[in-house]
Amino acid sequence: ASRTFSELIRHYAATQPDYPALIFKGRHSSYNDLEKQSNAIANTLLAAGMRKGSRVGILAKNSDQYLKILIGTAHIGAVTVGLNWRLSPKELSYISNDSDMEALFVGPEFLETAALIKRETPTLKLIISIDSIHPEWPTLTDWVANSPSSQTTISVCADDAALQLYTSGTTGNPKGVVLPNRAFFDPWVYQDHPEMAWNNIQSNDVCLLAMPFFHVGGIGLAFMALRGGASAVIVPEFSPRELLKIVPEFGISRTFLVPAALRAILLLPEAAAADWSSLQQIIYGAAPMPEALLLEALRIIKCDFVQNYGMTELSGTVVHLPPKDHVPGSKRLRAAGLATPNTEIKIIDSHGYAVSQGEVGEILIRSPATMLAYWKNPEATASTLIDGYIHTGDAGYQDDDGYLYIFDRVKDMIISGGENIYPIEVENALFNHPDITDVAVIGIPDEQWGEAVTAVVVRKEHSKVSEQELITFAKEQIATYKCPKKIVFSAELPRNASGKILKRQLRQPYWEQQD
Ligand code: ATP
Ligand code: MG
Repeated sequence: ASRTFSELIRHYAATQPDYPALIFKGRHSSYNDLEKQSNAIANTLLAAGMRKGSRVGILAKNSDQYLKILIGTAHIGAVTVGLNWRLSPKELSYISNDSDMEALFVGPEFLETAALIKRETPTLKLIISIDSIHPEWPTLTDWVANSPSSQTTISVCADDAALQLYTSGTTGNPKGVVLPNRAFFDPWVYQDHPEMAWNNIQSNDVCLLAMPFFHVGGIGLAFMALRGGASAVIVPEFSPRELLKIVPEFGISRTFLVPAALRAILLLPEAAAADWSSLQQIIYGAAPMPEALLLEALRIIKCDFVQNYGMTELSGTVVHLPPKDHVPGSKRLRAAGLATPNTEIKIIDSHGYAVSQGEVGEILIRSPATMLAYWKNPEATASTLIDGYIHTGDAGYQDDDGYLYIFDRVKDMIISGGENIYPIEVENALFNHPDITDVAVIGIPDEQWGEAVTAVVVRKEHSKVSEQELITFAKEQIATYKCPKKIVFSAELPRNASGKILKRQLRQPYWEQQD
């Protein structure tokens, strides 16, 4: 089994050279192309002075070139920094500086931003335009044109860093997470286990890569597809309408979607009549999945569903809910799932002691996919990675059969009238209302209660459902003390690129008024 990106690509370039690995805008790259072209990038990077450990940024939408650059970079033991192109130039400059970025590959939409980053980043000595002509910077094709496509002599091992991804920045500033090659290979050796057959991507699979590569979930499916020797269809960015066309056109068998993306698809009137017949499995996760949304997805898209729970610090998935646990009405449907093999879960209370079975506490995870460290942030590393366990900052509990149920971020828990309230429970209750399309529950300062449970609600178009009706609706389902004291109607909710609701942004006006 492969343990580095180089080994993986060389394996398939030898065993199935002509098989299509990547399909992007009508361009097919075989496994042989992938090896040759990534080697050429590796050789050119070396010639340009990049070395093991050099940070190489990519500021681009998803493409086949993106993955070739990433693999080429990994061939020489350099580290790809995937940049979130939705960030502002200022935020991007912060990350470029923070990572000591030496080279930057730029997609056509971001050439101007790259010029700004260059000005602010003294370490940056090389910029390559991936696709379009630029007066100063070479294009990728010209840049590699005179380089050999033979393997470099650099030896890279499983423990060498391969990727530096920044966390979503849901709870604070994004942190640079350094991930080794092995994190994307060791945990998946179990793919041969028969009980995990549902998770075994084969070369006849056609995966749709529709979520952004700068997040671990989006890039994770690309790695799964390559590990399986499958074909991957890549779109620059997610579009629900386009997805309905691409699935039947390419015979997509698997894809990964965050809950917000699934929601966008199901809001399309044409989703119900779309041709989903090729689709065998949808993997969803990276943010809480409202139960009502999952039920609707199961009803409309009749394929297997798998939930993934994970985080950047754990290179993606560490817990998954198999298709067989997706039975409407069953309690399991609300679980995040079972730990992947070689992964240990521990739940602790606020004093750091293990809770008793079934009690809610902070989730700790030990896995072969654990990050090496937060980049240049020893304090954050020391408080997050303790004795091999990642302190996830998420609250949850485990049932007798080992199923993990995620509640919320520990930080998002509301304390109202001395009771701990997990917003997710309140959100799920409100989501059952047919007029609600989106909801976020937060605590706002309150003299009587400490914090008052408040729901920010997006109603369906033309709906007139009132605050009082919704509070009554919640009371029919959950304990009164958990029910919202106040409902705020809004046209939409602030989300980041991984589709996560930015609760700190929703809370901000209320907490600022207080000081
Ligand atoms: P930051 O760490 O910068 O605040 P973030 O935690 O959102 O941002 P990621 O690493 O992209 O950054 O996301 C990991 C988090 O996403 C987890 O800690 C968890 O809160 C949430 N998450 C992931 N998968 C699931 C899931 N299946 N169900 C519920 N929440 C999930
Ligand atoms: Mg986090």
